[in-house]
Order: sequence, then C-alpha cells, then structure tokens
Amino acid sequence: MNELLKKIIFSDVKKQAAEYEELYAARGESAKVVTRLGPSPTGFIHFGNLYGAYINERLAHRNDGIFYLRIEDTDSKRQVEGAKEEIIKALDHFDITFDEGAMATGDLGNYAPYEQSKRRDIYRSFAAELLTKGLAYPCFLTEDEIADIRKKQEENKQNTGIYGEYALYRNLKEEEAVKKIEDGCEYVLRLKSTADIKVDIEDGIRGKLSMPANDMDVVILKKDGMPTYHFAHVIDDHLMRTTHVIRGEEWLSTLPIHIELFAHFGWEPPIYCHTAQLMKIEDGKKRKLSKRKDPELALSFYREKGYFKEAVMEYLMTLINSSFEEWRCENPGEDINSFEFSLDNMSKSGALFDIVKLNDVSKECLARMSEKSITRGLKSWANEYGIKQQGVKKAVIDAIIHEDEDRLAKMLSVGRNGNNPRKDLAYCEQIAEFIAFFFDEGFAVEDELPAEVPEEDAVNILNDYLQKRRGKNTSEGWFSDIKDISERYGYALKPKEYKKNPDMYRGHVGHVSTVLRLALVGRSNSPDIGEIQDILGKEKVEERIREYLS
Ligand code: GLU
Repeated sequence: MNELLKKIIFSDVKKQAAEYEELYAARGESAKVVTRLGPSPTGFIHFGNLYGAYINERLAHRNDGIFYLRIEDTDSKRQVEGAKEEIIKALDHFDITFDEGAMATGDLGNYAPYEQSKRRDIYRSFAAELLTKGLAYPCFLTEDEIADIRKKQEENKQNTGIYGEYALYRNLKEEEAVKKIEDGCEYVLRLKSTADIKVDIEDGIRGKLSMPANDMDVVILKKDGMPTYHFAHVIDDHLMRTTHVIRGEEWLSTLPIHIELFAHFGWEPPIYCHTAQLMKIEDGKKRKLSKRKDPELALSFYREKGYFKEAVMEYLMTLINSSFEEWRCENPGEDINSFEFSLDNMSKSGALFDIVKLNDVSKECLARMSEKSITRGLKSWANEYGIKQQGVKKAVIDAIIHEDEDRLAKMLSVGRNGNNPRKDLAYCEQIAEFIAFFFDEGFAVEDELPAEVPEEDAVNILNDYLQKRRGKNTSEGWFSDIKDISERYGYALKPKEYKKNPDMYRGHVGHVSTVLRLALVGRSNSPDIGEIQDILGKEKVEERIREYLS
C-alpha cells in the first residue's frame, strides 16, 4: 500500500527497517536489564534529571545490567550549544556514569548513534514501513486550521487533537496526496490510529495499568522530517533493546500512543516505570517544583553551594526508596551502593522535596565522612565554584585554595570528635564560613564583651594570659590558666556558684574564656578554644591577643 507515496516522501531512505533489526541485534543474556537516560539538551539540568538518572542507574547496576545515555535532540529549536557535555559533566559529578551511549568523547557501544539527531535515517525507514502498512499518512492541515479545530473542540467540550472526523487527510486518496506533495504543500506524517489497542500493562512502579486505546492521529514525523518524542523513543527503545523505560509521570497520559506504536510494529514494549513528580510543600499546599520559583531545582545549585555528592545521593535515595532510611540506620558505615534498591518501594504519589531534610541528611553524612574527604571536597569546590559565592569572602576562598591539606583537615576536625560531635555543617559554603576565622582574611571581631566583663578586666585577663602562656607551645593547661586568672579578678570558677551568689563575683569563668574567644575567634560562641589555639599556633594566638588589646 502507498508505494507511490513512499517513493516520494522517503526517497532518501536507503535501508529497510528489517536491516536495522539485524544491525542492532538483541543483546545477550548478560544484559537482562537495560535502562537509559534520554535527556533533551536544553541547557537546564534539574534535580528531576538526577532523580530519574539515579533510579535508572541503580536498577541497571544492581542487576549487572547496562545503563546508557541517549541524547534526545530532535527539537532543533530547543538546542543549546554544549548542552550534551554539560549533562555528562553534571551527572558525572554525582558519580552517575554510563556503560554506553553518548559520551564526551563520542559514542560508545554497539547501538550507536546515541544522539537522536543522527538517527534520522532510522526513524524515516520505520515511518516508511508504517506508511506502507496503511498505518500512517501525510497530513496537510495548516497551523491555523489546527487552531480552528481546537477551538471548535473546546467549544463542544470534546478532546482536543486530530482524530476521527477531525482527521481530514486520514482517508485522502494516494494520488491526491502525491499531487499535494508535488505541488509543494507542507505536511507532517501522522499515525493512522486504529483506536483499538487498549493498555493493559504492569507498570514497574505503579503496578497494573489499564487505559483506553489511543485514538489520536498523532504526528510521528514533523515537517522537517524529524520524529516526535512518541515515535523516536519507541524506535530507539526497541532497537537499543531497552528493558525498562523509567520516566516521569507526565508521560503517563500518552502511554496509549506508545503502546499502539509498539503493537503496530509487532514489538514487545519495554517495562514502563512512571516515577512520581517532585513536589514541594508551600503554605501547606503541595505543588510541582518550578524553574522560576525554586533555585534548588537546578542541579547547578548544589554544585555552587558545595553540597557533597555523597550527601545529595543519600538524600535522593531517601526520596526514591522508602526503606532506605531504615537501612541506613542499621548500616551507618555501609556504601550506599550496597543498599538493595528495588522498584517495589517507590513512591507512586509525588515525591516530596524538602531542602531542610536534604540539609539534615547532609549534616549526618558529613559527620560520617573523614576529614580528609571533606578537605578534598572543600578544596575542589573552592577552586571551581568558591569565588562565585556571595557569603564567603573571595580572600578566604583563596586562602582555602592555598592552605595545606593537613592543616585544613585539622580546622575541619574541630568539634567533630568526642561524645557529642558537631553536626551543623551541610555544604562547602557553610564550611568555608565556619573556618573563615582561622585566616586573617576572614577574621573579624563580631561580638561584644560579655556585660559581666568591664573593658579594664578584659585587658587584664588577656595580658595575664599572655604572661602565663609564655614558653608553652601547645594549648595544654590553657583552661587552668584561665581559672587562675578568673580567681584573681573575682570571677567564680563555676557558673553555678556565680548564680547562687551573684553579689560575691563579677561573673564566672565562662565569661573570662569568652574574652579569649573574642580575641581569637571574634565571636562569643565557638568550638573548643584549646583545639583552635593548637591550629592557630602560638604566634598567631599571641598576635590576635595583642591586636585585640591594641
Ligand atoms: N526526552 C524526554 C524528556 O526529557 C525523555 C523522556 C523519557 O525518558 O522517555 O522528558
């Protein structure tokens, strides 16, 4: 059927569809699970991409399968230069790596090309097959005509689209269609829906899905001859032998189209797994994350703030699999990849994204990580993103970049050991702010003397301290020196004593050490001042005290 039309429309097609079947042979036993990520290179990579990528990656790799990257770039209007490289780089940062597909260095694997823009011949060959089977036709409706149809359908409260009586060119005689094409009329190729292929499938996440048959004559090839998503992904997922298509639930409504296409080719569809949308609660209401309102939707946000990939992935897994948190509690030291990831525990309703929870997970994660790993992460963040940050001074970032790794690790270790280790840092920008005072570039006296300590006392306290520390190279005994000084100036050795008899004392030992803290850290709150003195070193301690006094 339609041989003449085929000749005219598909004069460029060299290979028969069957030849592609042979070229892209079925994968062997070793690839029982084959998943893919199919991002469109629009230049904006969001948290949802990483969420989907991680599910795909885990499903493939937990089952010794294959995970590949396919760039879905059939929409030339939405292309952005360098976007493919950006996607690869952004995912690589989170350790999402592919076994095959589009790589920064080119295609890797036997199912190439992995960029849809380079698969034009393949799609066209399969579209030609549908045409000759009488399951596709050229449609000459103009955009204005389509808009009018839509208006009418809306007025009649009917489904919008090209179907049934609205599919004006569905039954056009072949000669007439040929003539129109020869006359230079523009056209798209539409599916000639048989409207009788019901959806009765098992969704990998949602379970049994029953949906009515598609009846829309959807576009399969656009005016420029390139395929739509509906058509391209069916051809690709079949030829690339994908076993599981994991994609957002926004595709659920068009699933009947995809199932119909698979049926017309006589192919077994992959297992579709429709993931829940990422939602956010705002003013007590759930809503979708939005590019405009939520900076945290962009993946770049996490890299710029300096979140550790371990923390982000840990958080993602808590969103993805409801049993993960329990597993983590039972296995605090285990590599996340040992978690038995499964599609069974996945949320079917919207996955709730919550940055406060992400920060909590991140703090726990950092508390488990070694200072060495944190140091390395901090350094590489400082090099790549640090200077773009608003909160931390550029000079501090520079100092971090040039600081010796061991010394940095010591700064980071302050307050991390002992019974109640600190768990208040979630990402590099915060960490940099936290250690800024160690560097002269980031040091400033921000707080006032405690009300209990007159300025005259503060001068005496610090002068005495300098005296007492003479000849002592480490912080050992610093607190007993502070105690001596406290006694000397009438400060109670225990806060309790002072509280009981406030008239007998000027304040207590805590107020005295606050004076030292102000001189060394600039703030009245800080982690252990002994550890801090050891890192600053004797000379710097003396210098800061003298400066404070001057
Ligand atoms: N290119 C599609 C998107 O970016 C991919 C959907 C799919 O994974 O099938 O939404």
